[in-house]
Amino acid sequence: MTDSKRKAERSCLVCRRQAEKTELLRLVVDEHAQVLPDVLQKAPGRGAYICWQSACFKRLNDKQLMRAWKNVSVAAGQGEIVPQRAESIVRQLCRQALQQRRKLLSVGRDAVMHRMWAKTPMLLLLAGDAGEALARQIHDACGKRQAAGLKTALVIFGDSATLGDLVQRGVVSVLAMDDSPACMNLRKYCLWYGQLRDME
Ligand SMILES: [Zn+2]
Repeated sequence: MTDSKRKAERSCLVCRRQAEKTELLRLVVDEHAQVLPDVLQKAPGRGAYICWQSACFKRLNDKQLMRAWKNVSVAAGQGEIVPQRAESIVRQLCRQALQQRRKLLSVGRDAVMHRMWAKTPMLLLLAGDAGEALARQIHDACGKRQAAGLKTALVIFGDSATLGDLVQRGVVSVLAMDDSPACMNLRKYCLWYGQLRDME
């Protein structure tokens, strides 16, 4: 392994798994001894890292956090608060990414089903509580698109109330947009959000 490669790797403070730091959630401590998720990895100060995995968020505790910053004081009870703080930040990132694309979104079952016959690669967000009938309908349509050589990325996203809130449309079970490299961040945020939601 080269030096530069090793530098970019960090280990999760919960499970000790090593990964590139961009794949992990960076945490920092502020002047009030609060542990803050540094989702975009830009905050100054010493960082500690945790996997973007519900399993690691669930096991996160104060002892691990205090061990991660030996010379900095960390307030009690942070183990539980960190995932909540991360969820609120990631939700905001999802909201911004969706609002940037708001004119390009197909929202709701009818609009999405209609769009399924477009030839362009498509990204679908399906609410976790969408219901079996709709989920089956969407999966069938994705299968047909695949058989026709059309690309579809399907991401399961939180619940329909949250999805609706993010696009300011009440309750939304499914939405679709053209997929492109520009959607990469949105897809990442949605997957992160899913891991944080799995905490409940
Ligand atoms: Zn981990």
